[in-house]
Amino acid sequence: KRMSEQQADQLHIISELAPSVAHEIRNPLTVVKGFIQVAKASADAKVQGYMSTAISELDRTESIIQDYLNLADPHPGHEEHIEISNLIETIDVLIQSYAAMYGVIYKTELESELWVKGNHEKLKQVLMNLIKNAVEATDEGKSVKVKAFASGLDVHIHVMDQGMGISEEQVERLGQSYYTTKEKGTGLGLMVAFRIIEAMGGELRFESEENKGTIAIIRLSRLP
Ligand code: ADP
Ligand code: MG
Repeated sequence: KRMSEQQADQLHIISELAPSVAHEIRNPLTVVKGFIQVAKASADAKVQGYMSTAISELDRTESIIQDYLNLADPHPGHEEHIEISNLIETIDVLIQSYAAMYGVIYKTELESELWVKGNHEKLKQVLMNLIKNAVEATDEGKSVKVKAFASGLDVHIHVMDQGMGISEEQVERLGQSYYTTKEKGTGLGLMVAFRIIEAMGGELRFESEENKGTIAIIRLSRLP
């Protein structure tokens, strides 16, 4: 995707600011979260409910900060050999509880020995962002499925949902700066995903059918 000059300027500003701002904000957030967790233990049921909400909002803030950091620096930096089925299994607990919150069924179908080169944390962030979107798009009782398999010299990862789908014009806008249709959305998730996959030399694209669902398709070079 080609960037406009204005977008490039914005990204430049973000790259300069994000790391220091993120650092300054993260520390107090961690302290606040810690105190809420401690206080929660001795609170009554009603207050515990408020505190749980406060904690999940703090987690949301943390994940927005993480998206900004990755947007500022999508390049792998420290590169390692990553096994995809293993990586997807490490986020299983997080995703299962996220899916449960939305009443969505989460399934995986993973081939083993799918090795790629990149940064573990960054690729994990990409998958989290894509799977969260899939869950958020899907109605209660329906499912989200992640498939990973070898195809020729590549590894393919498909994140499939049974959500409302995206029109063709909308597909074109995915990943453009801060494009979101959600009330609490940031539009950062896909911007980051596209940039990280691009920096890995891979490809991210979307196929969608309205009222049927969407598939996010990642292609990465497979290590022999
Ligand atoms: P956010 O989730 O904060 O809105 P994202 O960058 O993650 O930002 O996604 C941008 C937009 O792309 C979403 O607001 C939504 O409109 C659309 N989108 C992304 N994934 C899906 C999906 N699986 N099904 C339907 N729409 C999607
Ligand atoms: Mg998102």
